[in-house]
Amino acid sequence: MAGKILVFVDLPDGELDETGRGLLSYGSRLAGILGSPWEVVTPIVCSGEQMAGFGAYGVPAITRVDGGSLLDTPALLGQTLAALAAANGATLFVLPHNALGATLAPVIAATLDAAILTEIVTASHDADGLRIARQALGGRVAETKVWDGSRPLVVTVPTRCLSQVLMPTVRPSTPAVETWRPAAMPAEAAARVTGRIPPDPQTVDLTEAEVIFSAGKGCDAVTFDMLKELCRLLNVSFGVTRPVYDLGWTGFERMVGQTGRTVTPRFYLALGISGSMHHVGGIKDSRRIVAVNNDAKAPIFPNADEGFVADLKEVLPHLLARAKSAIGGAP
Ligand SMILES: Cc1cc2nc3c(=O)[nH]c(=O)nc-3n(C[C@H](O)[C@H](O)[C@H](O)COP(=O)(O)OP(=O)(O)OC[C@H]3O[C@@H](n4cnc5c(N)ncnc54)[C@H](O)[C@@H]3O)c2cc1C
Repeated sequence: MAGKILVFVDLPDGELDETGRGLLSYGSRLAGILGSPWEVVTPIVCSGEQMAGFGAYGVPAITRVDGGSLLDTPALLGQTLAALAAANGATLFVLPHNALGATLAPVIAATLDAAILTEIVTASHDADGLRIARQALGGRVAETKVWDGSRPLVVTVPTRCLSQVLMPTVRPSTPAVETWRPAAMPAEAAARVTGRIPPDPQTVDLTEAEVIFSAGKGCDAVTFDMLKELCRLLNVSFGVTRPVYDLGWTGFERMVGQTGRTVTPRFYLALGISGSMHHVGGIKDSRRIVAVNNDAKAPIFPNADEGFVADLKEVLPHLLARAKSAIGGAP
């Protein structure tokens, strides 16, 4: 049905990270269900070790786009990737929905005059084409679209949906590596990246947070302060349930649930949270939920991947002490 599938992998800090490996799984699976050839596109020069990482996912080929410091000019990189897709007869372009991928995707789509679907969560193939479900803007937009392949498509996949599955049916490969440079470099970009500031988990919007530790009514003032200290030490975000918000301990932007934020972190730790439907409705798309509650019958447990029946007054001091010793003493 589709032409070639291009999967964009950017190797942040020079490493094939969890997102990159998840994308390779995703690309390999899409190629399998569409019966299409696929390859990886990267702006990075890969080492032998990185090549072996790609090979484990059966990547048949890697094209490195060459063009100076393209990573600092996303508009130029996007146009260059679009030119590569056009030259390759690619009809499906897959990117991660992170800061870079979400910037590149609209540029590629506009340059190719392709359709674009951001934050796709599942894809399956039926007689009508590729059936794609997306959940955008922290779950506020949910829809399913069918792509019939008649027009190129650019998709972004949220990093939380990228699991690094090594499929038994995929044979390890030694990818063919090629460097590609467009015949004419796109014109100078209006915007250039001059520096990168990582998001601060203490202030980041909870809908974007990767890891959230949340406090419920089972926390008292002492354990709540310990939790905040733990979050600061481990550099993760913290959230609260409605009763905790009602106590005035945090701003509304920290409240998680149906009337608060709908969150989709990789990891959600629910501490002293009963698991009402109003709260669970806002966390159910988290990749992994772990709950601690002193009531073995608390409704949070059937909604969690892992649960611990324990008293927070014992657990939190212990966690805090472990965190402090792991990072070499309290800052
Ligand atoms: C229209 C509507 C909208 C709502 N929207 C939201 C929303 O967006 N978000 C939200 O969170 N709620 C919302 N609520 C409220 C919701 O229904 C629940 O009341 C709330 O989620 C319960 O919060 P909780 O789990 O912190 O408290 P509780 O239900 O009181 O649970 C506290 C838990 O802590 C455990 N516990 C107590 N002491 C300890 C200890 N020492 N160690 C370990 N565990 C302990 C208890 O066993 C208990 O399970 C909404 C309600 C309504 C009606």
